[in-house]
Amino acid sequence: MPLYKYVHDKEKGKDCPEEFEVLQYLSEPDLTVCPDCGQPVHRILGNFAPVKSERDMLSDKNIGEKGFTKYVKAGNGYYEKTAGDGPQVISGN
Ligand SMILES: [Zn+2]
Repeated sequence: MPLYKYVHDKEKGKDCPEEFEVLQYLSEPDLTVCPDCGQPVHRILGNFAPVKSERDMLSDKNIGEKGFTKYVKAGNGYYEKTAGDGPQVISGN
């Protein structure tokens, strides 16, 4: 069940935090008003990493720098190294 982060559009109740988090099922619609003060709110990206940075994390360059070795299947039982240390190719045959 993901945690969604909301902020008040403009006005907020005096006891409301600027931002608040709500646990919601994926099937639940976004909140449009604050459950406390009833002012309009909108969802913002919280702890979810944008897809782009996730892809960067798994880039060959980053993997090599982090000390990992990455092999990509290049044929039948045959793997080619794309990042890190180790033999350039490994073959299962
Ligand atoms: Zn509020």
